[in-house]
Amino acid sequence: MSVKRLLVAIHDVTPAHSDRLEKIVSLVERIVGPGKAALLVVPDFHGKAQLDSDRNFQTLLRRWAEAGNEIFLHGYYHLEGNCRDEATRSWKAKYLTAGEGEFLSLDYDEAASRLREGQKLIEEATGRPVSGFVAPAWLYGPAAKQAISDQGFRLAEDHFKVWNPATGEVLTRGPVITYASRTPLRLLSSLLWSYIAGVLLKPSPVVRIGVHPHDWDAPELVDEIQRTLTHFVKSHVPSRYSDLQK
Ligand SMILES: [Zn+2]
Repeated sequence: MSVKRLLVAIHDVTPAHSDRLEKIVSLVERIVGPGKAALLVVPDFHGKAQLDSDRNFQTLLRRWAEAGNEIFLHGYYHLEGNCRDEATRSWKAKYLTAGEGEFLSLDYDEAASRLREGQKLIEEATGRPVSGFVAPAWLYGPAAKQAISDQGFRLAEDHFKVWNPATGEVLTRGPVITYASRTPLRLLSSLLWSYIAGVLLKPSPVVRIGVHPHDWDAPELVDEIQRTLTHFVKSHVPSRYSDLQK
């Protein structure tokens, strides 16, 4: 019987969340072991946290990559909007309050250009190739999907599956365990889903857990994330997304 795997993704890796991320990476590493997380990097989070102008964060990111963590491109701005070429100020004014599904409505050329530029910035910072692409909020429009496939990304995921965009092959299916703290109701339903998933997904060959920097603002979530990771490492081997391709 093949090994059961646990995949842990840390979303929204950006200088904007630097302090939270140091805590998150160290907690995750303590439970699943060093170098076993996927870090989903946003090159310019909300148009105000450029990776290429923050040396300290670049050093941190390179250290995490060298430890073996997989580095994914995770959008470019993480916000919806179609006009990166316009002056940044007007772009910000127009889109700062928009939704987080950046790659849902982009046309092909814009998606392709953000993918190319984002990949370049991350690879310059880490000194190694990105492992794949994960769209903000796991939302992919048809043009974005085509661009990801054309640019040869080998790993992508949404709420329900992980696939290889270069070949179209689906590598695993199953829901991701994720958390939300924005309202008390969301917080409660996150805790409930996490608890139920701990039981329901125990027999699954691949379990995916996705955490976000703002999860660390709610102590109840940090406790639950810690409990869930500890629960699954007993039955599932902490793995990298690329292990699904072996
Ligand atoms: Zn995100």
